[in-house]
Amino acid sequence: MTSDLASGLWHQTCQETPAFPEFSGEAEADLVVIGGGYTGCSAALKAAELGASVRLIEAEDTGSGGSGRNVGLANAGLWLPPEDINAALGTEAGSRLSALLAGAPQIVFELIAKHAIQCEPERKGTLHCAHAPSGLKDLQRRHAQLRAIGAPVELLPREEAVQRTGSEAVHGALFDPRAGTIQPLAYARGLARAAAAAGAQLHTRSPATAIRRDGGSWQVATPKGSLRARHLIMATNAYARGISGYEAPSVIPVHYFQAATDPLPAALLEKILPNKEGCWDTALVMSSWRLDQAGRLVIGGMGALNHAGSALHCSWLPRKLAALYPELKDARLHSHWHGRIAMTTEHLPKILDLQGGYACFGYSGRGIGPGTLFGAAMAEALLSGDSTRLPVPPAKDHAIPFAGLRSAYYETGATLTHLVSDR
Ligand SMILES: Cc1cc2nc3c(=O)[nH]c(=O)nc-3n(C[C@H](O)[C@H](O)[C@H](O)COP(=O)(O)OP(=O)(O)OC[C@H]3O[C@@H](n4cnc5c(N)ncnc54)[C@H](O)[C@@H]3O)c2cc1C
Repeated sequence: MTSDLASGLWHQTCQETPAFPEFSGEAEADLVVIGGGYTGCSAALKAAELGASVRLIEAEDTGSGGSGRNVGLANAGLWLPPEDINAALGTEAGSRLSALLAGAPQIVFELIAKHAIQCEPERKGTLHCAHAPSGLKDLQRRHAQLRAIGAPVELLPREEAVQRTGSEAVHGALFDPRAGTIQPLAYARGLARAAAAAGAQLHTRSPATAIRRDGGSWQVATPKGSLRARHLIMATNAYARGISGYEAPSVIPVHYFQAATDPLPAALLEKILPNKEGCWDTALVMSSWRLDQAGRLVIGGMGALNHAGSALHCSWLPRKLAALYPELKDARLHSHWHGRIAMTTEHLPKILDLQGGYACFGYSGRGIGPGTLFGAAMAEALLSGDSTRLPVPPAKDHAIPFAGLRSAYYETGATLTHLVSDR
């Protein structure tokens, strides 16, 4: 079994296939963007719409990082509830961020409609499901905090959650009608296509290998050429490759893997997620499940598929599926893949001020809406010279002590949990 992007379902079913040339030679632009995921493509799109000349360089293909590997839950807000965001950022900055991110799914679904992105958009809401009676406390706390800031979330009692999910294993759920599901890789590639149509020049298979500041501009080297630009956006998040002259901000890499069933028969689709909400649960070692457009159930949990203990994750997944849906106990799970989530200590995304550029990272598992929004905001802030347009105040520096050890802690916890549990 491989865990490559190409082995995954999103790669196999992606309807968006824009092609971009490798970068070679020398070029100048107003803005150079490094990284072709949601953040980079959204930044390139916004900058091109504002009339700037833009070059985006991507080491592999657009959507090769987290943007092509995720669950596809386009959520409103972050994983942290609003009061925790306020505690970390201060009430004013925290409230502003929560208000901006409350509108993020609307921005995502409007972009999808405007650019006719073929990414299976389903704006039917999400269900954060209590995996055990104890999970209800967490949901009640989130519900109270979200209602207090005007979010239209609903706390569903067990009977309704069972009916909505089709699973007797859920003990209640928090329903968020603002959210929805997408085919994540197709959304990233559709954004790339939209950016190119707006005038941005995109290049794949073109890693930045060196960066240096030269007077008032940035000099970016690739294996076959060099770019010069007044502004720079680093949008490499958890997939940052080594670049000479630039130290990528540290994040805690946390892995998450998924697999898919074959399309479910119509009779089962009447019972399992009949309204097509996307789901995740309250367990400490979290799981998620959702349907794709063809009616496959896509299910996943924390863990990496590239180490000796990966077999434990893969043998847990069918047990989890059967615990949720006993009728799927013999269903074949295929197309396994995994991805790397960039966590920060506070579980909050950060923007680093590079003096003439920004680096954005650390969405902590919530990057579809936030990446789209942060990318566009960075482009606006750089081109206008107005940093108050950023969704969070930019930091001057950033470090996470023992990031590698913390990452190992998450992976060990997930492996041990998957050894003994079917939750
Ligand atoms: C398994 C998984 C599940 C997730 N589930 C969800 C979810 O359901 N909902 C949600 O909102 N978020 C989810 N996330 C988070 C979300 O996917 C990320 O936050 C988001 O994709 C980040 O986008 P990005 O553009 O910042 O980075 P990425 O998409 O990771 O893009 C970074 C790009 O930079 C490129 N790059 C790196 N170094 C260089 C270089 N030197 N030169 C050129 N290019 C370079 C990489 O190749 C990569 O394509 C999940 C993440 C994972 C991994």
